[in-house]
Amino acid sequence: MERSQNPDQLALSDPALLDKIDKLFACNVGEYISLPQLVVVGDQSSGKSSVLEGLTRLPFPRDSGLCTRFATQIIFRRTKEHSARTITASALPGPDASTEKAAALKEWTWRKDGTFDSDEFSDVMNEVHALMGVSIVPNGAKSTFSNDVFRLEICGPDEDHLSVIDVPGIFKNTVPGVTSKADIQLVHNMVVGYMKNARSIMLMVVPANVDIATQEIVELAREYDPNGQRTLGVLTKPDLVDTGAEQRVLDLIHGEDLIFKHGWFLVRNLGQRELQEGGVDRNAAEDAFRQTEPWNSVPQDRFGVQSLRLRLQEAVIHNARQSFSQVRSEIMKRLKSRQKSLKNLGDERVTSEQQRSFLLGVVSRFQEITSHGLNSNYAMDDVFDNHPDLRIATLVMNCYVAFAESLSSWAHEYRFSSQKETNDSEDEQTPGETDSESQDEEPNNNSDMRDRESINESDAPPGIDTRTTDDIEELTEILHESTLERYPKSSGIYQWLTEVFHLSRGFEMGTFNPSILAEVFRKQSAKWPNFAQGHISDVVILVHRFILKALELSCVNQRVCDRLKARLINDLLSQYRDAMKQVCFLLHIERNGTPLTLNHYFNDTLQQRRAARIQAHLAPKVISDHKRGEIVRLSDVSTAHNKSNTRQTVEDIHDILQSYYKASLKRFADNVCMQAADFYLVHGPETPTKLFSSLFVHKLSMEDLEEIAGEEPQARRLRAQLVKEIRDLEAGKRILL
Ligand code: GDP
Ligand code: MG
Repeated sequence: MERSQNPDQLALSDPALLDKIDKLFACNVGEYISLPQLVVVGDQSSGKSSVLEGLTRLPFPRDSGLCTRFATQIIFRRTKEHSARTITASALPGPDASTEKAAALKEWTWRKDGTFDSDEFSDVMNEVHALMGVSIVPNGAKSTFSNDVFRLEICGPDEDHLSVIDVPGIFKNTVPGVTSKADIQLVHNMVVGYMKNARSIMLMVVPANVDIATQEIVELAREYDPNGQRTLGVLTKPDLVDTGAEQRVLDLIHGEDLIFKHGWFLVRNLGQRELQEGGVDRNAAEDAFRQTEPWNSVPQDRFGVQSLRLRLQEAVIHNARQSFSQVRSEIMKRLKSRQKSLKNLGDERVTSEQQRSFLLGVVSRFQEITSHGLNSNYAMDDVFDNHPDLRIATLVMNCYVAFAESLSSWAHEYRFSSQKETNDSEDEQTPGETDSESQDEEPNNNSDMRDRESINESDAPPGIDTRTTDDIEELTEILHESTLERYPKSSGIYQWLTEVFHLSRGFEMGTFNPSILAEVFRKQSAKWPNFAQGHISDVVILVHRFILKALELSCVNQRVCDRLKARLINDLLSQYRDAMKQVCFLLHIERNGTPLTLNHYFNDTLQQRRAARIQAHLAPKVISDHKRGEIVRLSDVSTAHNKSNTRQTVEDIHDILQSYYKASLKRFADNVCMQAADFYLVHGPETPTKLFSSLFVHKLSMEDLEEIAGEEPQARRLRAQLVKEIRDLEAGKRILL
């Protein structure tokens, strides 16, 4: 009858647009993006459900205590594949639903082909009330309203394209045992939530028999739709208007008060009693009412549910057309953001195979970064531009050089004496008087040294730190703490050596007990352990920082990255410890073993030192002969060694110690860098950076894989949700192209 006309009329208005909306709904886009929709709002018992029933011809439960306790979304869809009407009911959990309730609601569906009557509808509603935990009859234990949404989808060849939401009516007064203050707020928020959507048209239902100004809903509509662009007023219960009060209602309909763009409509539904008694057709009753005074003056297109439906469809189409381009750009935007989120989740990691292959991907990226880093191929990869910690080859090499320099500049206890003062005074040397020989001992740092000496006088820290990096907490237990080492004593070496000689001499004549060399060497190198262990700690930190950063960059998933770190840390610590141990071993060899060197450098230095002493002694006796150059008398040479035995021996000890110290220091610095740092931490066969390898991944059991690379149920759900949403949005995008 009149119903079968409407689809045609709609189709005539804009078939392509409606078809698109239809399809957007069909691929669930409405779940993510607010599509143009129609919301029925009004105070409690204003007649919302009655109007909806008139519009949709569905038997809505009305009043009699069964006022709407939750939002009901009714979606009409014209589908060609259905030959008759199909009704599918489902429920959408609200944002505050518990997990169990949400699961139960999502699982619930109800389906029926053909029509269904009001009893059936009531049964379904009762079931839904129970699921949502909402009481129908007063019940203190259950809540009265719910944020969950009841969804009815009505598909058929003749349905209108319409989506209507019937929300609970707004109310102001609590009923003890039934509705609380919290309920008022909940309903208010729910209704306002729907009204705020700028793409919704509000079908605002107001009873004609009350003072319209007192209806809260009119106020709200004015607030959220200040220009009245998307509000359509419906006046109900005209049959109950007191005689004499009719003019006010007629004024509204004639557009003389409370003006909204879509205007006001007058609708006469069935009253409570007519419904109970039955046998009255609502349309017939409405038609009959229109014939009565003064309602017969209402224009035809402003009266009755049929006119309302036509107007509504126009409004809906207009609204749809207006918001279409926004919907399109929103779909694109949302699609992009969802795709990004999905990408951030990484590949699916459910089976062991997926987990293993995910980790192998991480390994290969990690090894790539490592190999570029160790070969200083920093131009090969962008990561090196942004992360200085990754330039490992350079960092480590700089650290080696700095170590060698500070070891040779600051790690000895006494400065060795230079030749000049050997003869002048006992051994008083001031820093300003160092000669070329000692400058050779302390490359680069002699002037530095003088600076420090002068700074020293003015309260500067009296020494040098043995570490250059800050600790990383997880490594604290194995690392050597930084120490502040005093600068080498610039004088007193002869005095010290003489004391040692006096304390350990035996029956030797003109020579000394060889153990003295070991003893003075040990004292002279007392700062080596702190310098060397500080250095290796620095290298450990550099390597560890590199590994952490490279892992982080290779593994996009933070959680997996954390678990990998946790899994690797023990093996890393053990390798770091090996490097530290190697340094202790090298220290032991240099400082506790018998002094020994095959390096000719030792002899060369010793000879030079001795020759220099004689030369220095003879220097004042030189006779310059213009023919034969510089000449000394033989007798002067014989007195060159004219010193006390002790003095002679102490000078020997000094020169041997100096020559040996120099050889040992160079050997030690090399060994620490090559045998401890480089072998154990950087280039050796088993270095920390090699721990995280494909072999490591292949050795992981299924349980290990799950623990390290498995997805949390949360991530799994999120992925499923994102995949579905992206699929839906992509379908939506295709519809709009
Ligand atoms: P809702 O709470 O806003 O959904 O209101 P209902 O549709 O449930 O209606 C509340 C009560 O008002 C019911 O008993 C209806 O029968 C009655 N009612 C609704 N519209 C009319 C009308 O136009 N005339 C009369 N007499 N009663 C009406
Ligand atoms: Mg209702």
